[in-house]
Amino acid sequence: MNYELSDQQKATQAEIAKFCREAIAPQAIALDSSAKDQAAGILRSNLKKLADAGYLDILLEDDLIAQCVAGEELAKACPSTFITAMSSLTAFGTALKLFGTAAQKDKYLSGLAKGEKIGCLAYTEATAGSDLGLMQTKAEKQGEGYMLNGVKDLVTNAPLANAFLVLAWTDPEAGLERGTTLFLMEKGSAGFSIGNSLETLGLCGAPTAAVSFESCRVPASAIVGAVGGGYSAVQTILEYVKLALSSMSVGIGVACLETSTIHGKTKKAFGKPIGLFEGVGAKLAIMFTLNDIGRMLTHRAAWGMLEREAESAILTSCAKLFTGEGVNEIADLAMQVHGGHGYIKGTLVEKLYRDARFASIAYGTSEMQRASIARNSLNKYKQV
Ligand SMILES: Cc1cc2nc3c(=O)[nH]c(=O)nc-3n(C[C@H](O)[C@H](O)[C@H](O)COP(=O)(O)OP(=O)(O)OC[C@H]3O[C@@H](n4cnc5c(N)ncnc54)[C@H](O)[C@@H]3O)c2cc1C
Repeated sequence: MNYELSDQQKATQAEIAKFCREAIAPQAIALDSSAKDQAAGILRSNLKKLADAGYLDILLEDDLIAQCVAGEELAKACPSTFITAMSSLTAFGTALKLFGTAAQKDKYLSGLAKGEKIGCLAYTEATAGSDLGLMQTKAEKQGEGYMLNGVKDLVTNAPLANAFLVLAWTDPEAGLERGTTLFLMEKGSAGFSIGNSLETLGLCGAPTAAVSFESCRVPASAIVGAVGGGYSAVQTILEYVKLALSSMSVGIGVACLETSTIHGKTKKAFGKPIGLFEGVGAKLAIMFTLNDIGRMLTHRAAWGMLEREAESAILTSCAKLFTGEGVNEIADLAMQVHGGHGYIKGTLVEKLYRDARFASIAYGTSEMQRASIARNSLNKYKQV
C-alpha cells in the first residue's frame, strides 16, 4: 500500500499552496466581511486569478485525488472562494460533464474553467432538503418543451451565476427515482428570478439565495441527462460534492491547526509559551490527528470513486461525516486555544469557527450520512 501522492500531484499541491497563500488568503477576511457587491467583485477576481494560474480546471479534471489536494489548499486559504468554485466547477460543471449534451458542454465548460462563467446546482427547497420527495417544483410538458414553476432555496452562487441546474418533478406519480428531471436554466429567462443574498453564519463571502420560476418556458434542449433521471443524476453529482466538501473540511481544519500552533508558540502565560502546557498541546495533537485521518478517508473515497469500488458511495459518506464532524471539533479546539481573543469578530479563528459549521449540514447532513452508512451495513449483514 502506497499513501504517497504522485510526483505530479505533489508538485501541484506545492504550487497551489503557494499561490493560494499569496494570492487568495490575504483577501479572505475582507471577503467575509465586505458588503455583498464588493464581495462579489473579490470572488470574481479570485476565480479569474485561479483560472489564469491554471488551477480552476483541476476541479473539472478526472484526477479526483488532485481535486482533493487542490480543494484542501484553496479551502485552507479561503473557504468562501472554495465553496463558490466548488459549486460552479464541481456541482454544476461535473454534472454537465457527466450528463450534459455536446451543446451544453460547449456552451459552458471552458467558460467555467476560465472563471468567466459561473454555475450552480439548485435542488433544495424550503420544504425539501434531506427529503427531496417533498419537493414542490414542477416542470409540466407543454408541446416540445416544459413549463417550470417553483422556488429553490439556499442556492450557493445564485446571485452571481449565469446558469443553474434545477431539479423538478416531471412525473410526480413515478416517484423520485423516475419522476424528476434536471434542467439547465439560464439567467434572464422570462419568469426566472433570483432572490437577494441571504445572510449566512459562515462562508459569508459566497452568496446564497433563493431562485423562483413562474410559468417559465423551458425548451427540451435544456434537459440535462434523461427525462425522469434527475434524482439519480443529483445523487451522482452529490458524490463529487461530498468528496469536495470533505477536502474543504480538512483545509479548514489545517488552517485551524496552523493558527493555533502559531498562537501556542507565541502567546505566553506563567513563564512559557501556552503550547507547552499539556492542556493546549493535547488540543493541537487532536487537531492534527483528526485532520490526518480526515485526509486519509477523503483520499480513500476519491480512490474508491476512481476505481468504481462497489462501496465508494459509503466511503464518500464516511469521509463527509468524519471530516464534517471533525472540523467542527477542530474549530472549537482552535477557539479554545486562542482564548478570549479568538472570540472577537474579524479574527481568523472566529471566521474559521463560523465557516466550519457548514460542513456537517450542507449537501447531506451528518445524520443523513450516518443513515446511509447504517443502511449499507444492515443490507450487508441481513443474513444474520
Ligand atoms: C450555506 C448553504 C449553502 C447551500 N447551498 C446549496 C446549493 O447550492 N444547492 C442546494 O440545492 N442546496 C444547498 N444548500 C442546502 C443544503 O444542502 C441543505 O440545507 C441540507 O441538505 C439540509 O436540508 P435542510 O436544510 O432542508 O434540513 P432538513 O432536511 O430539514 O434537516 C433538519 C434536521 O433534521 C435532520 N433530519 C432530517 N431527516 C432525517 C432523518 N431521516 N434522520 C435523521 N435526521 C434527519 C437533519 O439531519 C437535520 O439535522 C445549502 C445550505 C447552506 C446552509
